[in-house]
Amino acid sequence: MDYKKSAALSAAIILLFFSCNHITSSQYEFALGTVCSVSLFEYGNNTIYNNIFFKIREIENQMSVHIPFSDISRINAAAGIEPVTVNEDVFKVIERAKYFAEVSGGAFDPTVGPIVSLWGIGSENQRVPSQKEIEETLPLVNWRYLELDAETNSVFLKYPNMALDLGAIAKGYAADEASNIAKSAGVKRASIDLGGNVIIYGIKKDKSPWRVGIQNPGKDRGIILGIINVQDKTVVTSGIYERYFTENEIHYHHIFDPSNGYPAQNSLISVTVITDISMDADALSTAIFVLGFEKGSELLKDFPQAQAVFIFKDNSIITTPGVNFTITDKTYFLKN
Ligand code: AMP
Ligand code: MG
Repeated sequence: MDYKKSAALSAAIILLFFSCNHITSSQYEFALGTVCSVSLFEYGNNTIYNNIFFKIREIENQMSVHIPFSDISRINAAAGIEPVTVNEDVFKVIERAKYFAEVSGGAFDPTVGPIVSLWGIGSENQRVPSQKEIEETLPLVNWRYLELDAETNSVFLKYPNMALDLGAIAKGYAADEASNIAKSAGVKRASIDLGGNVIIYGIKKDKSPWRVGIQNPGKDRGIILGIINVQDKTVVTSGIYERYFTENEIHYHHIFDPSNGYPAQNSLISVTVITDISMDADALSTAIFVLGFEKGSELLKDFPQAQAVFIFKDNSIITTPGVNFTITDKTYFLKN
């Protein structure tokens, strides 16, 4: 997971509060490599906010590859040597990550760590590696070499130098946990936005749906191209404009195709997934992005409760049936 501060500027989704007169209360913190924003309407208090941010920081401390003794760092350090027993929650997320690796045919792969490090996108060491380096590194990326033992909550990476990276799923999990804390504390209406992993729940006073803005890829953060109207859902986007660098006019972004070790290349700019569990939406949006529109749509069929908005490089947009989506930037057009 890349926790560089630059990522704070790069989240893909913006929650809109147009229909609220004001934000009754919101708190922000930098964690999980992004700005985490929590708004507890009806009603939050400092204890609930503190519990939520405590949990988010705990998840970061367990799952970040940038924290030396996180569970993930311990697993990576023991790659090829021995299994590592981890916290139950961490095990659950790794198990789910392996599930999504399997169902996506490896398009989503939590063992992508060595390729992420090689490119260093978002870090001061970002660069285009040589073909030779990519070929040498790629055999280390294979979710089949990720061995899990549910009896002991232990995790083993079979070969030395393999590395887990939960960057494509951990924020979703953290959003689910944050929302569960709010719900069990009796908060009737809340929005949680962890760098583009949004969860919103509860009925607004005027009974109108929530409005979630989709970032306009070509514009500054906060400028949207459209609005999704939703109720009690999670909305998660993976996009190529979130973290990238440009060299010789080529755009190198942070979502890798594990089949070739390069940033995934297709006609998509971003994929937004709308469903009930943010961890699943997070993994799915990354997986679908790597698969591209056709194969990604096939994968989506296995998750009938999930909907999606696909944004393409030619400014066209496709939504799956039932998505309530309004375009606000007229340079984009719906192709449904
Ligand atoms: P997201 O923004 O959720 O799509 O996640 C992107 C992050 O997940 C990257 O910054 C990497 O840390 C990691 N990642 C990149 N490519 C993949 C992939 N194909 N499968 C799983 N994780 C990935
Ligand atoms: Mg993701």
